[in-house]
Amino acid sequence: MTIQNLIRPAIKALKPYSSARDEFQGNTDNLTFLDANENPFDNGVNRYPDPQQGKLKALISQIKDVPTENILLGNGSDEVLDLLIRMFCEPNQDNILILPPTYGMYEVLANVNAVETLKINLSEETFQPKTEEILAVANANSKILFLCSPNNPSGNNLETLSIELLLKNFKGIVVIDEAYIDFSTEESWLSRLNEFPNLVVTQTLSKAFGMAGIRLGMCFASAEIIATLNKIKPPYNINQLTQEKAIEGLRDRGRIKSQIDCLTEQRNALVKVLKEVKFVKIIYPSEANFIMVKVDDANKRYQQLIENGIVIRNRTTQPLCENCLRLTVGTVEENKKLIENLKKL
Ligand SMILES: *Cc1c(COP(=O)(O)O)cnc(C)c1O
Repeated sequence: MTIQNLIRPAIKALKPYSSARDEFQGNTDNLTFLDANENPFDNGVNRYPDPQQGKLKALISQIKDVPTENILLGNGSDEVLDLLIRMFCEPNQDNILILPPTYGMYEVLANVNAVETLKINLSEETFQPKTEEILAVANANSKILFLCSPNNPSGNNLETLSIELLLKNFKGIVVIDEAYIDFSTEESWLSRLNEFPNLVVTQTLSKAFGMAGIRLGMCFASAEIIATLNKIKPPYNINQLTQEKAIEGLRDRGRIKSQIDCLTEQRNALVKVLKEVKFVKIIYPSEANFIMVKVDDANKRYQQLIENGIVIRNRTTQPLCENCLRLTVGTVEENKKLIENLKKL
């Protein structure tokens, strides 16, 4: 398997759009810019943003210990996932593999691109990949396998040995979606990018980093994969305000760490008190900032909580999630309110 053979022919042949800011780079001090048809009157956002997000990427590179040539940024991870599908999957021909119950966007994005989704459920109760079955279902048109670890909505990590086996034996790209990795006891797969040419890791500023509103997703992969993603991404996909706010937020390491510590501690405390709620049947172990529980009647309990002003996620229609609710860990006060309400229902 070579990466080049997996890329869609149209993408390989593509000559990317060259923006004004691509064509002239270099020291911008004391230069007069009359190349991009911008309005010259300075208001902080009158110029196009850096299409390669040099400053922000340098900071992410330092934080994650990954060279900038291995990083692509997207308008949320959702844009990154969409770009990956468009890079590798030929519409009306190729397919992706997903392991339900999992994040809903993989299938939606495949559908938007006329790409088929093959589904192999995780194992019951433990929510682990059934590796033999996955490799048996995969065919010559299976281009991407999406793994979500920690998994949304079940909350568990996928076992390292299973992921390794899939990386070695699946003849396509393996995307590991690490949206919740900062809450996990498991190490990120970032440190193993060099070992597996077909490994793509995605992360986001939307969860642990507390910046869902600015929309910033991160994609880490070989320089070869990143170079092609750069060809197909919209030229200015990360706006100026997002780049600035991301730099500001990421520099505040103390805030990030204390919030992650607080949420992890709150999650573990919530697990303990949930055991005292009489209609909670199973509390699934969580390595994320949410907890999935099985209750007596998910629709009923969901509705009751709404009537008490608390919105949670009802996952009962998802495979293997009958009567399951997903509870996001909130502030100390919010969690207290949740527990008080659960106990009085
Ligand atoms: C929340 C979440 C994301 C984040 O998506 P963004 O577009 O970056 O906000 C990605 N993957 C999973 C599994 C998620 O739960």
